[in-house]
Amino acid sequence: MISMEQNRFYSLPQLPYGYKDLEPYMSEQQLTIHHQKHHQAYVTGANNILQKLDKTRKENVDLDVKATLKELSFNIGGHVMHSLFWGNLAPANKGGGGKPDGKLGKALEAEFGSFERFKKEFTQTAMSTEGSGWAALTWCRQTSRPILMQVEKHNVNVFPMFRILMVLDVFEHAYYIDYKNDRAKFVEAFWNVVNWKEIGNRLQEILK
Ligand code: MN
Repeated sequence: MISMEQNRFYSLPQLPYGYKDLEPYMSEQQLTIHHQKHHQAYVTGANNILQKLDKTRKENVDLDVKATLKELSFNIGGHVMHSLFWGNLAPANKGGGGKPDGKLGKALEAEFGSFERFKKEFTQTAMSTEGSGWAALTWCRQTSRPILMQVEKHNVNVFPMFRILMVLDVFEHAYYIDYKNDRAKFVEAFWNVVNWKEIGNRLQEILK
């Protein structure tokens, strides 16, 4: 029998706000489909592969390791990135938007020269991601620098071992209902629902 204990598989996390709460920047319909269909698909996809690995090992049969690991990386990446994304968003009337303060605000100013310059480079990162992917702000513990990361798909061009502070999903599935193909409008809207408090907390955790 394949073990089905919950903690040996991934599960879809609940959003820390309601589906309507990011409006008008992300509509209820867009957020619901994004979370319940798209994110869920990566959870299901990763779990299916884990079950396949369990089964082939139990039966001691071969599998296409290269193709399986490529698919597993994409699906786990999708699950992890979406989980980070929901956490770094907040309703505009409940702390979303504005500017970071504290250590995070200081670190961004020290690295980029100003918050406005950071915002511009992060926006450019999001706008120039080829095809589907993510813009991310990471923290490098060796240099104590916040470093921008442009992820293709969910898992390509990632800096290994860097901690992720903030992500923005630029898969078209993140915005097609609200903005059609206009990624620029979606990226502009994102700044109204960024949860700087949570992102600052992520940095505090790293610096402990
Ligand atoms: Mn997505």
